[in-house]
Amino acid sequence: MRTVKSSFRFKGGVHPDYNKELARHLPIETLPCPAELVVSMSQHLGAPAACLVKPGDYVVKGQEIGSRKGFISLSVHAPANGLVKAVEPRLGPSGAQALAVVLDTTAVAPEGVDTAERTLLPLDWKTAAPEDLLRRIEEAGICGMGGAGFPTCVKLNPPQGSKRCDYLIVNGAECEPYLCADHRVMLERAERVRTGVEIVRRVLGDPAVRIAVEANKPDAIAALEKSFADIAGDVEIVVLPVLYPQGSEKHQIYATVGRIVPEPPALPIDVGCVVENVATIAAIADAVEKGKILLSRVTTVSGDAVAEPRNVEAPIGTKYADLIAFCGGAKEPPAKLISGGTMMGFAVSTDQIATTKTTSGLLLLSERRVFRYSSQACINCGRCLQACPMNLDVAEIGKAVESDDIAEAESLHVMSCIECGACAFSCPAYRPLTQHCRRAKNTIRARLAAQRAVLASAKGSK
Ligand code: SF4
Ligand code: SF4
Repeated sequence: MRTVKSSFRFKGGVHPDYNKELARHLPIETLPCPAELVVSMSQHLGAPAACLVKPGDYVVKGQEIGSRKGFISLSVHAPANGLVKAVEPRLGPSGAQALAVVLDTTAVAPEGVDTAERTLLPLDWKTAAPEDLLRRIEEAGICGMGGAGFPTCVKLNPPQGSKRCDYLIVNGAECEPYLCADHRVMLERAERVRTGVEIVRRVLGDPAVRIAVEANKPDAIAALEKSFADIAGDVEIVVLPVLYPQGSEKHQIYATVGRIVPEPPALPIDVGCVVENVATIAAIADAVEKGKILLSRVTTVSGDAVAEPRNVEAPIGTKYADLIAFCGGAKEPPAKLISGGTMMGFAVSTDQIATTKTTSGLLLLSERRVFRYSSQACINCGRCLQACPMNLDVAEIGKAVESDDIAEAESLHVMSCIECGACAFSCPAYRPLTQHCRRAKNTIRARLAAQRAVLASAKGSK
């Protein structure tokens, strides 16, 4: 194992204020289980799980309450013992409604119910077959915990044939402002990260390993160096320059191994790479070695309007209001509540939204930190083009979307946009460029889905 500096610098990127000093030195604390949990059936990218419970049912911690529905999907498990109060649509962290199970965790279990947590049998990863390890990762409900939440069992199981994994890239960049959850996992759970790497390496057929960490986390790098010191094989910790969006999958692949992922629908595996977030890797270690299902995660609660910023390990389904209360409440009424970081997160309108497996941060920002602006006409300054790490002509994409010309936006490769926000961050005219890209992508995706549905029904009627 050795530590090296990244030799590849991607084009574009920006330097927002990181504001990580608010929570970077704070150890992970465990939130006592709240009286009510709201567990969404839509925890990740792909099809939501099919709900298996109804109001009045009593469920036990670790019990499956939603079953996998389709290839890109995962089961959902009860994060605590409790009575199902309701099964109803609830607002999620991204602002979309999804079916959720509302649990009263203070309810007394009916007589005769075995209330012991449901766990899985521990596996010896050194001797277990890769298929068994993969099945375990699926049974434990593990999805990517750093971004969109792609089901990990699908990502680690590339189609047979030419798609060989040369590199497992472990994403510890955490380039989003304010967020420190991954930083703390690397620092406090470096041994879990090492075991997770060994397991995933076995699943993927022993690829080389690159652990990517931004240079502003020297203590995490030191902890990983200690934990990985005697690991065998081609393993490197790659120290990345501090640059947003260094944590983007495509840019991390370029920064660590110099490979370029082609335009969608190409995937990292098409260039021989699989990228997994550090928290996901640590969760895999727990699922295999300890039989633990993914029922909680570390979330950074920060911002200048929260009384005591913290890194909190909380059950999945914890309402933001409970997280905020655990952090001493708000010092002043927050002008903005953000689910995630300031660059890619979503502003939300209520603290009654609950965490999912992908909730890495919750920010409370005061009026002083919230910049109110009105969008103006493009002055053709070109700053957005310089900032865009995907090399998109985002000024023209923005104009096309404003004219409702989605076909033009598509011809300008809007589907390659990673929604990082670097363009909007750079724009002196405060143009909502990221929202424009998101709107165009959603419209195109809806059109493609409708076309697929028509084709499928035509096939079915033959
Ligand atoms: S166009 Fe997309 S990828 Fe490019 S900077 Fe804007 S949000 Fe990021
Ligand atoms: S940064 Fe804003 S004003 Fe400048 S070219 Fe891009 S969209 Fe136009």
